[in-house]
Amino acid sequence: MNYKKKESGQFVVPGEQLGVIEEFMSDSGTYVKQGIVYSKTTGRALMDILNKKVSVYSLVRNINIPRVGSLVVGQVLQVRSKKALLRIYKVGKNNMNSFFSALLHISDTSPSYVDTMFQVCKTGDIMRAKVVSDKNRTFQLSTIDENLGVIYAFCSECGHMLLLNKGKMWCNECNRPEKRKIASDYGKAE
Ligand SMILES: [Zn+2]
Repeated sequence: MNYKKKESGQFVVPGEQLGVIEEFMSDSGTYVKQGIVYSKTTGRALMDILNKKVSVYSLVRNINIPRVGSLVVGQVLQVRSKKALLRIYKVGKNNMNSFFSALLHISDTSPSYVDTMFQVCKTGDIMRAKVVSDKNRTFQLSTIDENLGVIYAFCSECGHMLLLNKGKMWCNECNRPEKRKIASDYGKAE
């Protein structure tokens, strides 16, 4: 069997392999398929070594976990030339109690070719994006669709909110333009 050994307390998502039945009995929050114990929920894996049981303590109660296809809103934490790191604080319409980080790669930002991530977003901007993958517990985002992209942007010089003027981003304080991949409802989102 080829699976990564999980440690007690580790964060797991549904369908993640926790162990094999030779090692652990399947307890709450888990299920067995073809001799492998999987997590049924998002939470912390608890390995009871003494009683050879594995369970998953659910963290989902009222928290909305992003899934593939979820629309999320987050703040840009860091921008590199080919990717940006976002802190997700809203999934669907719900604000979350805990934060998730997610990655946006430059090839998933726009229907047209983009040179550098700095033309898509800047640190501090608020973006709406779609989760396109959650492999290896890393949420990957896309902003290609028209309704996705930056919903609030801030001037990289003075920090004032950028205005949308004839399809272009503009700082009224500094009297200069900036570039972003904006959502169709830029500046109007709740
Ligand atoms: Zn400015």
